[in-house]
Amino acid sequence: MGLVSATDMLVKAKAGKYAVGQFNINNLEWTKSILLTAEELKSPVILGVSEGAAKYMTGYKTVTAMVKAMIEELNITVPVALHLDHGSYEGAKKALDAGFSSIMFDGSHYPIEENIEKTKELVELCHSKGVSIEAEVGSIGGEEDGVVGKGEVADPKECKMIADLGVDFLAAGIGNIHGKYPANWEGLDFEALDAIQKETGVLPLVLHGGTGIPADMIAKAITLGVSKINVNTECQLYFQEATRKYIEAGKDLEGKGFDPRKLLAPGAAAIQTCVKEKMELFGSIGKA
Ligand SMILES: [Zn+2]
Repeated sequence: MGLVSATDMLVKAKAGKYAVGQFNINNLEWTKSILLTAEELKSPVILGVSEGAAKYMTGYKTVTAMVKAMIEELNITVPVALHLDHGSYEGAKKALDAGFSSIMFDGSHYPIEENIEKTKELVELCHSKGVSIEAEVGSIGGEEDGVVGKGEVADPKECKMIADLGVDFLAAGIGNIHGKYPANWEGLDFEALDAIQKETGVLPLVLHGGTGIPADMIAKAITLGVSKINVNTECQLYFQEATRKYIEAGKDLEGKGFDPRKLLAPGAAAIQTCVKEKMELFGSIGKA
């Protein structure tokens, strides 16, 4: 199966009361680890690519070519969506041209009128190509690729306005933040989430900043309509810890331990562990 839009998998997830993980990729090891885990566990999966990560990998075309080829070479049969994470207006158009199968347009920093106007245009463009589109209402706090925002709770009426533009799924701030959660974090705002779901109905909702949200809060968020959960930092931390252990144990100094295929192997295995734990928590195993 080639790349698919994320709409079908998320509509099914919402109906089935589970969530599909969006795991952000940075390079070949990340992509391979996530795809292999999704296939092994028969879970649908969304590969997230931020504009910074796309730039790091030399551009959207490189990313699309790598992911498509890997799906073929690894005989991946589960549904895979290649999704632009927090795309700008210009970035969304570039990723679309390069063959991404899903787009997030983050217009949350525009005044609501401008966010609506740009979202409308991109909805039409994406749907004309069979590509799914996610929009964001209310900025999501923390830092992602240099974009810093304070934790916010989205206005349910604004969510309804954006939902009515025909977006396929909606990210709404409910006190979640990107990156590691501070010790004094107050948790997710379930009242707000419930109010947003009541306004937006069957539309799948997206929870950004999935790293470090306690399991019981994740489970509750899923019952209240969250069908896509973004995980980025957590895979990075797993990779970092495993790589640090390898080097601290002096394994890079033994034999051919300096070979990048050996040096990066523990980190790649750790990403698989992280993805597996999240898929278990989100309930997406066996849902492909
Ligand atoms: Zn995000």
